[in-house]
Amino acid sequence: MKKKFYLAGEWVEGSRYTQLSSPYSGEVIAEVPLADQEVVERAIAAAQDAFLVMRKMPAYQRAAILEKIARLFDERLEEAARIIALEAGKPIKTARGEVIRTIQTYKFAAEEAKRIHGETIPLDAAIGGEGRLAYTVREPLGVIGAITPFNFPMNLVAHKVGPAIAAGNAIVLKPASQTPLSSLFLAEIAAEAGLPAGALNVITGSGSTIGDQLVTDPRIKAITFTGSPAVGIGIRNRAGLKRVTLELGSNSAVIVDRDVNLEEVIPRCIFGAFAYSGQVCISVQRIYVHQDSYPAFLESFIRETKKLRGGDPLQEDSDYSAMITPQETERALSWIEEAKERGARVECGGEVVGRMLQPTVLTGVPVDAKVSCQEVFGPVVLINPVESIEEAIGLVNDSRFGLQAGIYTNNLATALQAADDLHVGGVMVNDVPTFRVDHMPYGGVKESGMGREGIKYAIEEMTELKLVAIKR
Ligand code: NAP
Repeated sequence: MKKKFYLAGEWVEGSRYTQLSSPYSGEVIAEVPLADQEVVERAIAAAQDAFLVMRKMPAYQRAAILEKIARLFDERLEEAARIIALEAGKPIKTARGEVIRTIQTYKFAAEEAKRIHGETIPLDAAIGGEGRLAYTVREPLGVIGAITPFNFPMNLVAHKVGPAIAAGNAIVLKPASQTPLSSLFLAEIAAEAGLPAGALNVITGSGSTIGDQLVTDPRIKAITFTGSPAVGIGIRNRAGLKRVTLELGSNSAVIVDRDVNLEEVIPRCIFGAFAYSGQVCISVQRIYVHQDSYPAFLESFIRETKKLRGGDPLQEDSDYSAMITPQETERALSWIEEAKERGARVECGGEVVGRMLQPTVLTGVPVDAKVSCQEVFGPVVLINPVESIEEAIGLVNDSRFGLQAGIYTNNLATALQAADDLHVGGVMVNDVPTFRVDHMPYGGVKESGMGREGIKYAIEEMTELKLVAIKR
């Protein structure tokens, strides 16, 4: 099916098209227009015009539009889930979960739209400040450029579009080339929900071709980017004084103390490692288990992992499917090979069946092997024993990344020690780092990014604080 851009409230044909294929079957699922300089220009100009409308729109109206977007997603939940399954190769039951979260994200945005406020400042605390009334307000920035990844094509877009609308901004959205259909579906819903023309523009096409124009155009006041560290760091370097929020990758780890209930811990760790074939920014990539529990943990983890079922993402019983592209599958395989050459053991998986890399468990992986120190972003996890929790914390922190980390322990002092010492954006005690709900502050330190999402926090990134001081 031939798709169009969504510009200034109109569906616009492209001059060039590319074919979009299913990650699972390789079949062509759509023809998608490729934006060029002129299309980007039109999108930015439309957003700039629409900002004049958005900045004057009362909060209750912005909230009502967001509520309606949430309601329309709810009514079309199954359709939305099938789009994700088809273009991202995400198993349908996981895709449904993403749509349910997307609905919540827009609901949170609707609620937060009504809570954007400043504070009064007691200027008389300073000599010469008396006789004045002062307060702050939060104003929308203007046009927001949103660049999104393939792995959560509905919900991570919602984390940008939701707060941008809540705050009264206008948006130019560039979704990942592999997952444009989810964003075009959103455009349809936003139009039906009554979002003013131009407040959301969706341009599809290659990030390496049009990304620079978005990042450097002075009319775009902020870039909100979720994606790989390499692209994100490049954006930061070119963005000048623009506001930049970066939600990047990680090699997330979980620590498992002795004496925890493995029956509870192992299913969560398997979910954390292999949900959506590990193509999740907070996927569990490294597991450090206290040596006392290690043999039992490993044996049970491998046994349970072997029960996961691979298949067509549209099939109800598929737990995993193909990775996003054959090239990514090849890359993950080559990293497994590298670890093997360096002495690692493949406990299960490590092979491609059809287009699907099997969930892979590695042991004995050296810390500087790629599968340990870089972001695998595939169904690969390493499990290593540790002598102490201090040792494990040191290993978790020995990373370029720091998004989230998890620790399972029954010892309160150990939990609090880990909360203090883990250098990450979020510490999950008694859960995997993969835990996220959509209103919590979320983001990383080090090469995992800068700024926070989670609607309220994203609104802070997308607004400017203004002071008003009135001399009586
Ligand atoms: P990616 O390759 O970095 O792409 C992300 C987006 O950037 C896509 O829309 C891409 O467009 C665009 N892009 C590519 N080159 C660009 C350039 N030079 N200038 C501007 N934009 C450019 O990432 P991905 O493979 O889609 O997603 C996986 C990565 O995202 C992983 O590293 C993962 O950890 C990270 N992630 C982080 C979070 C978080 O919240 N921290 C959440 C999810 C994912 P094209 O698709 O057209 O190349």
